[in-house]
Amino acid sequence: MRLATKATHQQTRAINHGLVLRTIYDLGPISRAEVARVTELTRTSVSELVGEAIDEGLVEEVGRGPSSGGKAPILVQVVEDARVVIGLDLGEQAFTGALVDLRGRILRRVEVPVEGRDGKAALGAVERLVDELVAAAPEDRLLGIGVGTPGLVDTAGGEILWAVNLDWQDLPLGRILTDRTGLPAFVANDSRAAAMGEYLFDVNRHAPNLVAIKIGHGIGAGIVLGGELFEGDGFGAGEIGHTSVVDDGVECRCGRFGCLETVASSRAVVAQAREAAAANPGGELARRLRDAGADPTIDDVAAAVRSGDEEARRIAAAAGRWLGRSVATLIGTLDIRHVVLLGSVTHLGEPWLDAVRDESARRALALLGRETRIEVGGAAEDTVLLGASALLMTRELGLVPAR
Ligand SMILES: [Zn+2]
Repeated sequence: MRLATKATHQQTRAINHGLVLRTIYDLGPISRAEVARVTELTRTSVSELVGEAIDEGLVEEVGRGPSSGGKAPILVQVVEDARVVIGLDLGEQAFTGALVDLRGRILRRVEVPVEGRDGKAALGAVERLVDELVAAAPEDRLLGIGVGTPGLVDTAGGEILWAVNLDWQDLPLGRILTDRTGLPAFVANDSRAAAMGEYLFDVNRHAPNLVAIKIGHGIGAGIVLGGELFEGDGFGAGEIGHTSVVDDGVECRCGRFGCLETVASSRAVVAQAREAAAANPGGELARRLRDAGADPTIDDVAAAVRSGDEEARRIAAAAGRWLGRSVATLIGTLDIRHVVLLGSVTHLGEPWLDAVRDESARRALALLGRETRIEVGGAAEDTVLLGASALLMTRELGLVPAR
């Protein structure tokens, strides 16, 4: 927690500007008097701040509301396409970028395959994606860039400390993108961006707390506490993928042994399926993997699960149980009742999800386990880039978009 310091006049003004804008965003069309009542700012301050927002093109007047005796008040609302954000999801198979408006609507979407690129080549792909979206954006309306990336990220400095998959270490991605475009950039770990996306865009939101776990090549959790992203002391909150869970386990990409990723990630599941297929070359699973060619994916295993193949179901359930152990620890630590599962491994479907639920319920304190809702995240394939965009909007304008 930051120590309280006396806010300067300018800081106070910026905070109040955000507060007024947020109020109009959430409650508009709304009168200035009503904004003053809700925010407890003076009418004079509100009028000034609304005037400023109108000058910036963020807010517009939209006619008059019902009169309460006197003159009918003028209503104001946020112009939804007043600004657009570039949201990026640096995913496993592809880098996806989009232009997103202030309500989280996607105006344009671009995707480039990753094709095994890492290091400089991967950075080059990110830069090209950003260039394309900057060129496509309406002039003078770009607010900034929000990035969701795998790896450990210092969000304050916009620096990727370590992304194993992409072979990035101490990469100041935020600064690189700002230098390139002149726009502010916000970089967050993808699981954390996804957690924020799931939280902000969940129409059925019940509680201010949520854990979203992304299970793909890597495994990471994003934790939202009281509506805010919880990052931990060193930006590593939720880094469950490289916690060792198997005694005498196999070596992990991080150099240690028996990490959760070695038994529950998409790579681990595919590797186990290959082993099972080699041991039983006449089986259904082996036939499916052969059909898939040299590089079977988690979706080939998922297809075998759906067809009812026993071996595939057994492998899916085993991976689910390993994840369930870690989920139990999170539930026990945080007492969060809503856990959302995302990523390619969720394609394994019901035997996997049942195993996650059973194992976490079995291992968590009974009362907590019973109260917890564990589900696969919404159809939103754009959760990461929307979450990253929302984080940027929150920082730049104080807005918290939600549908
Ligand atoms: Zn590891």
